[in-house]
Amino acid sequence: MLSYLHGFHAGNHADLIKHFCLFALIERLQKKNKPFIYIDTHSGAGLYDLSSEQSQKTGEYANGVARLMNAAVTDNALQRFKQQLEPFIAQRLYPGSCYLASTMLREQDRAQLMELHPTEIQALRQNVKSPLTHIHHRDGFEGVLALSPPDIRRGLVLIDPPYEQRREYQQVAQCVISLLKKWPQAIVAIWYPILTARAAEKRGLSEKMVNELSTTLDVASLDVRLTVDDQQTDVGMVGSGMLLFNAPWQFDKDIHSGIKTLHDILSEQGKGHFHCQWLKESD
Ligand code: SAM
Repeated sequence: MLSYLHGFHAGNHADLIKHFCLFALIERLQKKNKPFIYIDTHSGAGLYDLSSEQSQKTGEYANGVARLMNAAVTDNALQRFKQQLEPFIAQRLYPGSCYLASTMLREQDRAQLMELHPTEIQALRQNVKSPLTHIHHRDGFEGVLALSPPDIRRGLVLIDPPYEQRREYQQVAQCVISLLKKWPQAIVAIWYPILTARAAEKRGLSEKMVNELSTTLDVASLDVRLTVDDQQTDVGMVGSGMLLFNAPWQFDKDIHSGIKTLHDILSEQGKGHFHCQWLKESD
């Protein structure tokens, strides 16, 4: 059952940590002229209207991207990310993962975008129109394995499911293990939620997944995490993380100060925490 719609959440704190990491990873890939490929297993609609009923109903962007736009930012990487968002925000739009990535492709680069929801795929096809990009109406876990290894071997896969069902945590783990067997040099970025007692049924599943993957796989893994409040808050999701496999050398240094700044801007009275921590370093 597909009921999740990202339009309710676009531009919230979870999108900011995810999309800032994504932006910084693509900047690293752009440092060489060699082509790269971007694969998004759970693309969403691509572009979101912050004036829409969905967005206005939750108002999550107000405590997310709206705060970033109003803040003075000195960190260079975060400042470049903010500049990338500015033309969209000026039109009350927010670019999702695949839209942001597609604006960063050069003519030699390619993207493969997957989405399963019957109306989100239509919106995605309307929103992302580029000869560099191929859009698939299919299951992202199955699709990424079918496409791997791609002809272009330098690449980044974003795995960003809604985690509405408990089984999705296990699907992510199985998919990443199979993916890195087929395509060992892939950079893999997995977004995961940090939940409070209000989400009792799924609480702890992210931490279990991160632990299982980082101990099972003999691949460099970097864990980036940002929570914006303490566990006593009355929301179900207090923050989120990005688990990165094969992150570029010293990538933690690229983003550490930007993540700290995001925490300063987004946290409620300094509550919550952030980290950029290697769980396994490369040899
Ligand atoms: N990555 C997007 C972004 O950052 O802008 C947000 C994606 S949203 C969290 C998750 C999306 O995955 C939803 O649009 C949902 O319809 C889609 N979805 C759910 N299960 C899927 C599956 N098995 N394969 C592909 N897409 C799926």
